[in-house]
Amino acid sequence: MSENSPVAACHSDPQPNAWVSQTAVIREIRPEVSGVTTYQLALTDPTAAESYRFRPGQFNMLYVPGAGESAISMSGDPDSLETLTHTIREAGNVTRRIADMRVGDTLGLRGPFGTSWPVEQCAGKDVILVAGGIGLPPLRPVIYHMLSEREKYGQITLLYGARTPEMLLYTDEFQRWREQGLDVRVTVDRSAPGWQGNVGVVPQLLERLQKFDPANTVMMICGPDIMMRFTARGALQRGMTTEQIWVSTERNMQCAVGLCGHCQLGPEFICKDGPVFRYDLISPYLKVEGL
Ligand SMILES: Cc1cc2nc3c(=O)[nH]c(=O)nc-3n(C[C@H](O)[C@H](O)[C@H](O)COP(=O)(O)OP(=O)(O)OC[C@H]3O[C@@H](n4cnc5c(N)ncnc54)[C@H](O)[C@@H]3O)c2cc1C
Repeated sequence: MSENSPVAACHSDPQPNAWVSQTAVIREIRPEVSGVTTYQLALTDPTAAESYRFRPGQFNMLYVPGAGESAISMSGDPDSLETLTHTIREAGNVTRRIADMRVGDTLGLRGPFGTSWPVEQCAGKDVILVAGGIGLPPLRPVIYHMLSEREKYGQITLLYGARTPEMLLYTDEFQRWREQGLDVRVTVDRSAPGWQGNVGVVPQLLERLQKFDPANTVMMICGPDIMMRFTARGALQRGMTTEQIWVSTERNMQCAVGLCGHCQLGPEFICKDGPVFRYDLISPYLKVEGL
């Protein structure tokens, strides 16, 4: 991506030690929902721990010897770096091995990698965060950061959906987020006994949003490709432009530094040009099945 790229504001920094895996020890394990767990990790090298910084939207590569490496987003507070927070869904080799680990076990960690959400560009604006399922963890650092500087932003809204009420992440934080000035709206694809909230897909939450100033809003979306496309389409229909919409994309990733080509999407490498893209730059490729 060129220096003059319109998304340079959230560029990925070159990694001087991109191949060096640090040792991280698991300090805390918190089961979230079925198959999804949040880990607090601490780098064992004090110098590495001291210098580690990340921006909302970036990810680490977590390494388990004998299993491999996986890209996992930061899901914790970027302003509080005592531990690094990762929320992980069991998917395959690496994440299943991590799921078997206990407090005190160690794994390898490279990072941070990738571009970040355009938080700086949101000052004075309304912000709509849209998350589907495991798409909420990469947006949670934005929530923490914006709520710590709440006065800088206009209306901040979270539209969040999961398949069922049992699959909703971080529900115990919703009340605190609301008290701090986040408008949290939730929906589920399928209801369950006791559920009194919305039923339907996430883009419908956007349709129902009444207080909405398209000219002064920045939208950040993370979730399945189809959900991101329909949400962006809804936002465009309501008067937003593609330059105001940002998405975080996911593809199978290996090297994380733009060499192996596994995560290529059209001309872009998700690992170094993404995962966060401005919508006009990535939308042509999101539409192509299997790309
Ligand atoms: C930038 C980025 C950030 C991510 N952040 C998180 C996160 O915060 N939490 C989390 O739980 N997961 C996250 N993921 C997804 C995670 O990297 C994959 O689930 C990972 O492959 C799991 O590794 P594994 O060895 O356990 O599974 P694998 O054995 O690699 O994969 C299991 C199955 O999932 C498929 N698969 C692998 N990667 C992907 C992918 N990216 N998209 C769709 N299908 C895939 C494989 O083809 C296979 O069928 C992220 C991915 C990217 C690219």
